[in-house]
Amino acid sequence: MAYDDQNIFAKILRGEIPCTKLYEDEYALAFPDINPHAPVHILVIPKGPYLSIEDFGLRASPEEITGFYRAVSKVAAENGLSTDGFRAIANTGANGGQEVPHFHVHLLGGKPIGPMVSG
Ligand code: 5GP
Repeated sequence: MAYDDQNIFAKILRGEIPCTKLYEDEYALAFPDINPHAPVHILVIPKGPYLSIEDFGLRASPEEITGFYRAVSKVAAENGLSTDGFRAIANTGANGGQEVPHFHVHLLGGKPIGPMVSG
């Protein structure tokens, strides 16, 4: 599957759709999920055109990979998730329930998140 630059997160990266920026650097952007599933629900996305965590791990440069995961850690800490913990989720493909085809990590916290997989 080819990367579609008309996906919602590509539009957010280009500034065509607004978001509340919680963090931004050369490698990553973080903003609240529009439909939160926890008191804190943040999406962290890489700036490059990657479909999924799998695509990112295979194609991104070492600098992009390091920069992105450092941003994830900073976003978690800056949003109060370090002390009590959080869940990081990267839904991937159809069986993973991925809706937006641009790699993103969900950070969920602010309360116990519950069982790892429901249903
Ligand atoms: P996925 O199912 O692909 O892992 O998650 C995509 C997430 O993106 C969903 O939790 C959804 O609420 C969120 N989302 C979709 N469109 C927008 C948007 O325009 N703005 C923001 N902030 N979040 C969005």
